Order: sequence, then structure tokens, then C-alpha cells
Amino acid sequence: MRDNTLCVKHPAISHDGYASLATATYRASTIVFDSAEAYANRSKRGPDGYTYGLHGTPTSRTLEASICTLEQGQRTVLVPSGQAAITIVFLSVLLPGDSVLIPDSAYPPVAGFCENFLKPRGISYRIYDPMIGADIADLIDDTVKLIWTESPGSTTMEVQDIPAIVATAKTRGVLTGCDNTWATPLYFKPLAFDMDFSSMALTKYVGGHSDLLMGSISVKDITLHRKLKDTMRMIGMGPSPDDCALALRGMETMGVRLAHSGRVALDFAGRIASRIKQGLVLHPALEGSPGHPVWKRDFSGTSGVFSIVIPAHAEAALPGLLTAAKTFSIGASWGGTHSLLAPMTITRATDDQAHKGTILRISIGLEDENDLWADLEPIVAAIASGDAALARSA
Ligand SMILES: *Cc1c(COP(=O)(O)O)cnc(C)c1O
Repeated sequence: MRDNTLCVKHPAISHDGYASLATATYRASTIVFDSAEAYANRSKRGPDGYTYGLHGTPTSRTLEASICTLEQGQRTVLVPSGQAAITIVFLSVLLPGDSVLIPDSAYPPVAGFCENFLKPRGISYRIYDPMIGADIADLIDDTVKLIWTESPGSTTMEVQDIPAIVATAKTRGVLTGCDNTWATPLYFKPLAFDMDFSSMALTKYVGGHSDLLMGSISVKDITLHRKLKDTMRMIGMGPSPDDCALALRGMETMGVRLAHSGRVALDFAGRIASRIKQGLVLHPALEGSPGHPVWKRDFSGTSGVFSIVIPAHAEAALPGLLTAAKTFSIGASWGGTHSLLAPMTITRATDDQAHKGTILRISIGLEDENDLWADLEPIVAAIASGDAALARSA
């Protein structure tokens, strides 16, 4: 071979004796075959085989397998965001004429997708009270093909009665799915509760460092896996191997990160709850938080995100207090090493007086807890005293 060819074709080297604790990053668009016949028969390799880079490399398969084991599923697929994990489930199982039920507490872009993408294409949706439990039966008609859940709910933290919803759905032949981003399979396993889909924004605790976007969908039923893979293939969607390698790295420390953030968040939530009006702290492990008994029954832990309902008298002081925070950053998303404060304006479809106004979402990272508390203290004081002016000058 001549030099220009030798520049392109790297010599085969031995892997003998090579072992590493790190997962290699296998990048590929093209997968090559050792014969024309193998190439012609490539579709026979099925969704678990390697056929094209978009459909998986050993790096993405390692992350899939790792998440799948934790979720106690049969297969996991990876998509480029947590939002895509939800939309790909919906697109895989809903057809024109069908409808989906989504909780009022869902990650807000879910309702946006239903209203602005599904509805014009003949797929309808209905928003339900996340605390509905077995009464979800009243909303199931012949068009309902999927019940979506998110437990606890984004920002408002309602823990849903998943066993009651699954039992009702099963008797009516309706599929169920859960956005499991907050708990991760370390603290809750939707598939073990007989849900059909468990999704996660890996962007949050699995990635864990605020530097990647990815989502996962795990299933027990192989036919549902085929539907998901078909949808992804037709849409042309697959994860980046580099992001998969980052997610694998993040996942290795997820257990200790969650244990730490969960402990500090619960400690703070308890401290804040003891100083302000009852019901204003939304944390599943606190008595009185919506769905607390269900959390106690079904979950094995808490992660590092909780919320405070900001009463009207403290609203004016809040922006100044947030801007003054030294250790917390202000921003959406969560689950990383950096602690975040996000003031959220909640709009509800169902009549819900408890969640009118601003809710402050708090994500605890890995900084020293005394530094974090120094930022929260004036916010708590402003809420407790009702004296916004005093808090602002403090
Ligand atoms: C962040 C988040 C998502 C979306 O994840 P992205 O990767 O940002 O698209 C979905 N569900 C929940 C509960 C989330 O917190």
C-alpha cells in the first residue's frame, strides 16, 4: 500500500493484555462488514446488533445495559434529551384518534408537546390531578392508550400513587409510563411496579455535572423496545458516543452524590419547614407534603431537589435575594454538582389554589452545606418574618 492509503488505514494492533476500568468511547457513523453477504443481511442483526452508528456503538450499549440493570428492565434506549425520552414514548404508541392522560405536575414541555404537536395530528390529551390515584378510572375511555406519570412532579413534588394507577390501567388495557428523573432507579423502580415505560432525563443525576443532555427509556416488554427503536430509526435519532461516555462516568458517582445531596436537602427542608407556615415546603419526605404516605410506602430514598412556595408577602424581595446568593447559581435544570435556585411560575390546568404564584425550586449539589445555608437563610427569614424590606437590606 502507498503512503496516502497508509495514512487512512491504521495498522491492526493487539488488544491482548489490555484491560481498563474506563469504558472506551467508540465513535462511528459507518459500521463495516467483512463480506458483501454480511452487508446484504445486515437488517437480520435486529435492533440489538450493530448496523449503523446512529443505532448504537459499544459505548451506548454499555450505558443502556447499565441503566437497564438498575431499572430492572429488559431493554433501555438512549435519546438526545429527557424531553425526547417522553416524546419518543408518546410517538411510539399513539396514533390519530388515540389520547394520552398526563398529570398536571408534569415537566411543563410535555403539555406543550401534546397541545402543539400531537393535537394538530389528531392525538388528544387530557390533564389530570396528580393525586388522582385509582379515580383515574373515570378518565379512561376507549381512546386512552397511555397514562403518563411523573413522581414526584416537577417543582410541585406530588408523589403519585403508581400502584393504584397501574392496577386501573391494566384492567383497561392501557399502557403506563413514569418520568423517574427525580428518584432515579436508585430510589424508585417504576418497572418493578409493573409500569410499561420508565424514562429519565440523564441530563440530571446520571450525567450529574451539568455538561450533557440525554434521556433514557427502559422497558420490560421486547415488543415495546422494537416500537421505540423503530420510531427512533425513522426519525433519525441516536445519542452521541461522547455523551454516553460522560454519562457512564457520571453514573459511577451517582450513588454517593445522591446520598449526599439527598441528606442535605432533607435537612434543609426540615429546618425551613420548622420556621415558616405549614405546607409551604414541598419535599416528599416531609409530613404534609402531597403524597408523603405514598413516598414512604414506595420509595427507598430522596434526592436533592425540593421546593418552597413563596408567599405573596415575600415575592417582591425574592429576586434581590436570589441575585445576592453567593454559592447557589440561578438556573433551570438540576441534579449537578453545582447547587441551583430556580424561581418557577406555575400554571395549572386543574383548579389548584395551592400552587398559584412563585415556587422556588432548590437543587442541592456538592458544595459545603454551611455556605449553601448562608444563601438560603435570608430567603427563609423573608418568608418567616413577612418583612420583605428588612430582608432586602440584610
Ligand atoms: C429536565 C427534565 C426533563 C427534560 O430533560 P432534558 O434533558 O432537559 O430535555 C424531563 N423530565 C424531568 C422531570 C426533568 O426534570
